[in-house]
Amino acid sequence: MRLQLPPKVTRIIHTLQANGYEAYAVGGCVRDMILGRAPDDWDITTSAHPQQVKRIFLRTVDTGLAHGTVTVLLGEDSYEVTTYRIDGEYEDHRHPSHVEFSAELAEDLRRRDFTINAMAYNREQGLVDLFGGMEDLQKRRICCVGDARERFQEDALRILRAVRFSAQLGFSIESGTEEALRELAGSLACVSAERIQVELVKLLLSGHPEYVLRLFDMGIAPVALPEMAESALEAETLEKAAARLKKTPPQKALRLSVLLYPIGEKKAGQALRRLRFDNHTIDTARRLVRWHDYPLPEDPVAIRQAAAQMGEDLFPLVLQVQETYRDVSAVRGLWGEILQKGQCISLKSMCVSGNDLITLGMKPGRAIGECLGELFQDVLENPEHNTRQYLLECAKRKLEQ
Ligand code: ATP
Ligand code: MG
Repeated sequence: MRLQLPPKVTRIIHTLQANGYEAYAVGGCVRDMILGRAPDDWDITTSAHPQQVKRIFLRTVDTGLAHGTVTVLLGEDSYEVTTYRIDGEYEDHRHPSHVEFSAELAEDLRRRDFTINAMAYNREQGLVDLFGGMEDLQKRRICCVGDARERFQEDALRILRAVRFSAQLGFSIESGTEEALRELAGSLACVSAERIQVELVKLLLSGHPEYVLRLFDMGIAPVALPEMAESALEAETLEKAAARLKKTPPQKALRLSVLLYPIGEKKAGQALRRLRFDNHTIDTARRLVRWHDYPLPEDPVAIRQAAAQMGEDLFPLVLQVQETYRDVSAVRGLWGEILQKGQCISLKSMCVSGNDLITLGMKPGRAIGECLGELFQDVLENPEHNTRQYLLECAKRKLEQ
């Protein structure tokens, strides 16, 4: 089989070979090339040890020398070059006690998680497929390299990765692999929240976010999403969430919110914090859960009021969420007009500020906030009132009362 490697990847492989070492593109990039998908990154595996890699290339970064990884920089691009590796005993379902370098490509491929991720390629040797990766690609299935039970016991994150890859590729999970996965689902509890987060996000942002149902079906949810699993949601509720997920644009906060909507804002927040999401994502997803089913009226005043309450940034996202289960075209049209006319929907775009009220003679304090609030309500109802002159006069009248 002949695959088209990018010129810089070929250059790195040829340079290593010219220095007497073996080198191949490996893992995800080989899988994606065969499938005709654009690889995210290009990983290279080699018989050269990290110090040798560093000697051969001019610009390198010590990414993980202990694990054999050196990043080679070529122009603007960077490539991870990793020495053939054997992982030592796994002690705690997540970390090998040590890694050993190896002279054998086969050893390096054997430590990898799934057959479709365990193929190597270079132009000289062609495709190296020792574990039936090509066959599983053709059968469109995820299958562990070697004994599935052992592989999940070594590193429990692979349990979640199996579902993640099945969602990204639209693949099934091979029966032996699935059986082991169901049996060992609970051991995912040993894996850090950060690593779970990465895989969960990839699953949700994949072409098949609805495969998240497999987490519930296969007993992974009680560990990966306990806040949902413990809520004893009806099957129908989960299926509805899955159907909505499929229609949600692939953005992290949007899809997280649609997944977590059935458990409500508070529990959604707990789940996101436990999974160590960043504050911005937590805040956005929580607010989207809150407004998920808010009945947006088809009326410009009510829309401006709702947008003011949600926050201008959130309103278009709420529309995207609601679009997954109802027709929001009328609201979208009205929102478009509001934007196009530049109508005021936030206090900060009002033509008078607290300082203006102080200049008028109002005493700093609560009264100012209340007065601004009243003016803002007026402007939301009557956008044409958002002029300095009108609002200052209005404020003056209020001051005199
Ligand atoms: P992506 O498109 O998400 O980058 P990928 O296949 O490149 O997919 P990575 O997580 O980047 O996945 O890992 C690169 C390769 O390293 C995998 O293809 C696999 O061969 C190996 N690998 C990664 N994580 C594990 C793991 N937990 N256990 C065994 N092998 C792994
Ligand atoms: Mg990768």
